[in-house]
Formats: sequence, C-alpha cells, structure tokens
Amino acid sequence: MNMNHHSDDASQLTRLEPLLKAQKNAFASTPMPELNERLRRLNLLHNALLAYREQIYTAIDADFSGRSSAETEMAEILPLLEGIAYYRKRLKKFMKPQRRHASLTIAPGKAEVHYQPLGVVGIVTPWNFPFFLALSPLIGALAAGNRAMIKTSEFAPASGELLRTILASVFQEDEVAVVTGGVEVATEFTRLPFDHLVFTGSTPVGKIVMRAAAENLTPVTLELGGKSPAIIHDEFPIGEAARRLAFGKCMNAGQICVSPDYVLCPRNKVHEFSSLFIDAVEQAYPTLKENPDYTAIISERQKNRLERYLNDARAQGAQLMTAGSSNENLRNTRKMPMTLVLDTTEEMLVMQEEIFGPILPVIPYDSIEEALDYVAARERPLALYYFDWNQKRADHILKTTHSGGVCINDSLSHVPADDIPFGGIGPSGMGHYHGEEGFRNFSKAKGVIRKGRINTAALVAPPWGNLMYRGLM
Ligand code: NAD
Repeated sequence: MNMNHHSDDASQLTRLEPLLKAQKNAFASTPMPELNERLRRLNLLHNALLAYREQIYTAIDADFSGRSSAETEMAEILPLLEGIAYYRKRLKKFMKPQRRHASLTIAPGKAEVHYQPLGVVGIVTPWNFPFFLALSPLIGALAAGNRAMIKTSEFAPASGELLRTILASVFQEDEVAVVTGGVEVATEFTRLPFDHLVFTGSTPVGKIVMRAAAENLTPVTLELGGKSPAIIHDEFPIGEAARRLAFGKCMNAGQICVSPDYVLCPRNKVHEFSSLFIDAVEQAYPTLKENPDYTAIISERQKNRLERYLNDARAQGAQLMTAGSSNENLRNTRKMPMTLVLDTTEEMLVMQEEIFGPILPVIPYDSIEEALDYVAARERPLALYYFDWNQKRADHILKTTHSGGVCINDSLSHVPADDIPFGGIGPSGMGHYHGEEGFRNFSKAKGVIRKGRINTAALVAPPWGNLMYRGLM
C-alpha cells in the first residue's frame, strides 16, 4: 500500500507544473470570463453535486469509518448548493465596475474600480470536511472568474478520489483540476507560482505555506485553527446553553475548526451545565459503537493524540465526565465518547493545544470581565460564542473582543451563512471566503482613471513660478 502511495505521489508531482502551465495559458486566452461563462461553471458544479450526492455520503463514511449521511448533507452538500445559489443571484452586481469619487487633482476625469479575475488559484484542503472545504473556496474563485487547482488531503483518500472524478466529469483540467497526495506533493504544490493560494489547515502548517508562497509573492488566504471559546452569561438559561453547545460540539465528533474548544461558565453553574450537557449528548446519541449518527475519529493517530490529552489531564488532577454507557466496548473502533474536562489548569495539554475532537474543558469564572480577560490573554480565535439574551451586553462583547467570526446564542451556524465573510484573524488566519468579501478576495480591485478631451496639464503645468492654482487645493 505504501508503495502505491509513493508511486501515486510521484505521478502527482510530475503533473503539477504542466497543469499550472495549462491553466495559466487557458486563463491568458480568456482573462475576463463573462457573467454567462461564470454561471455556466457554477451550474456545472451544482449539477455534479446533485448527481454524485449519494457517492459523496459513501466516500466520507468510508474515510471516517463512520459518518452519517445526515451530517454530510447538512455540513457539506446543502451549504455548497446554497453557496452556489448565492453567487448565481448576485454575481452580476458584484462584477460591475464601481464609480468612485474623482478628486480635484484628477478633474476633469472619472474614477472607477474594476474587479478582475486573478488567474489560477491553488486550494489546499484538510480532511475534516473534504468536500465543503475544497469546494466552498472553489465557488468563490470560480465566481470571481478564476481557474483552480485543488490539493486534497491524504487523510481522506476516498473523498479525494471522488472529488477528482466529480470535477473531471464537468471541467476541463485547464479549468479546474484535482491533485491528490501527501506532504511531499503538498509541499511542491504550495511552491507553485499561483496567482492566489488558499490554505485550510493547522496554524503551524499555515506558516510553512505562507513562507513558500512568499517566494513567489503569491497572496494567501489562510483558514487556520485555534481554540474557539464559548462564554455563557450568568443570566442565560444553563440548560439551553448546554443543549445548544452539545449539538455544535458533537457535530463531526468535534473535528471542526470552529468547534467550541472550551466553555467559560459561571462558577456556581459548572455542575449543572456539565450534567445537562452530558444528558443532551446521551439523548442525541444513546449508543456510539454501531450508531452512524456519531462520527468516528479520522485516524488512529488523531485518536491517540486525543487520548493523550485526556491522560495528561487526568494525571494532572482534572475530573473527566464521559457521555454514554461505560459498558460499550469501543476498543476496536475509532469512536470516542464526548468527554468534559473539569478542574483544568493552564499546564494541561487540553488548555494549550487546539482540541479538534470530542473533548470539552469547562472553566469556571466569577465575573464576565474575568471571562473576557481570559479570552483576551490568548491568541485571537477563529470563532467566539456568547450566550446571552441581552442585546446590549452582546453588543459590548462584539465591540471588545477579537475573533474571526462570532455566533451569539449558538455555535457553528455562522459558517454556512453565505452573505457574511468567513475567515480568521491573527493565528486563526487571514482573508475571507463567502459573501461579497469572498468575491473581492478572489478578484484584483483595479483602480482606473479615465481622462477626457480637456487637457488640464495645459493649465496646471511647469514652469511652476506661477502658483495661481494653489488656492484650489
Ligand atoms: P494540516 O495542516 O495537517 O493539513 C492540511 C493540508 O496541508 C493537507 O492537504 C496536507 O497535505 C497539507 N500539508 C501538510 N504538510 C504540509 C507542508 N509542509 N506544506 C504544505 N502543505 C502541507 O491540517 P489537518 O490535520 O488536515 O486539519 C486540521 C486543522 O485544520 C485544524 O487545525 C483545524 O482547525 C484546521 N481547519 C481550519 C479550517 C478553517 O476553515 N479555518 C477548517 C478546517 C480545519
């Protein structure tokens, strides 16, 4: 099997440069695809998703050794279909050049901004949502008139192969191409002189990718990870917070970049929150082993990493609360029960690393200021969740915290929202996709000045001895 991997990687490596060259040549021949051409590409993608829907469920289920069609539908297919519909409706407006203010120095003249496709966009994807995280940036890139090469994750091989089949069924390789392979292919891929590079993955690899892109001055959009906090206000009904957080945290068994990473809970409610959270999880997933609703961990390596976090926390005196009946033997599966971690310290791995799995530390706070200070003292997260019916206080949180996005009274639901940008800040990333911002992200905003027949240079010109126009400034 390893041999196969190597020979496949070798064949992928030799494809890279010719593919980019073919895409760049094709782009040069039609550098400004019209609205109809962009809609045609988006429609092709839309139809392909519908045609391959069932196969997508199966491929993802195989890669995870257990993930339900419902989750794949909700978290991958539906948001992609909606994302396409969103751009289909607004593309004409987004593509229009904008009239801008023409200042006195250029009068008489017109100022405009033209949004032009960048060229070939490289897209590097992780394993956790192998279709959504490859195709959601692709939709933005195609809407903005670009061509694209996608590098899939080696940890979701069935999905990678299917993605290649799906895209090859509707696109020429010089429009959209899929490259599969491991780190060696990824490394060479990110060294290609793309016109833009989108990377979704971990923060440490994001740094390597940005360094590689810097060699070519390729602009990057980095969709990275981090520890996204959830803060529950003292007045918010604690059962409601527990149920809403349990829903979001259990999706994909916590293997989501915006999964709530830890909860800041009023000190006197930690106990109640924990038992209601566990109740909610057990109600949604009465069993785990044969239950397709609860996603397995993607690999042994990831499962070992998560178990290491739990062992480390236990050894340092944390209390663990695990959902599910303890008599289910999960040993020969990659299913991992949802576990709350109480009495944490800053030294524990669960409070130092991004968790990215079914583990949730609950941290007590005494005042909301203390909770906010706790978040502010850490790296700027990808998402922040705040539970409070009081709008004024929520507005205060919005103004005083920094995060890629915010979801008030829920988790995750800002991700599939098409009309708002999605992206991180600082260590959780840079740049956006989705919404108008996504279209602009994949376009060059070209400033244009148009001058007419009147030549002002004839009036305002050297010799500069005569400064009669100075009063105009
Ligand atoms: P990863 O960083 O290990 O891998 C992501 C991709 O990078 C893969 O395609 C891989 O082949 C490639 N890669 C690996 N080493 C590379 C190198 N040296 N040079 C260039 N490319 C390389 O991430 P992962 O384990 O697949 O995904 C989990 C991480 O992704 C988590 O940190 C999570 O928060 C983050 N994530 C972020 C988002 C987001 O939208 N912000 C979404 C999903 C996941």
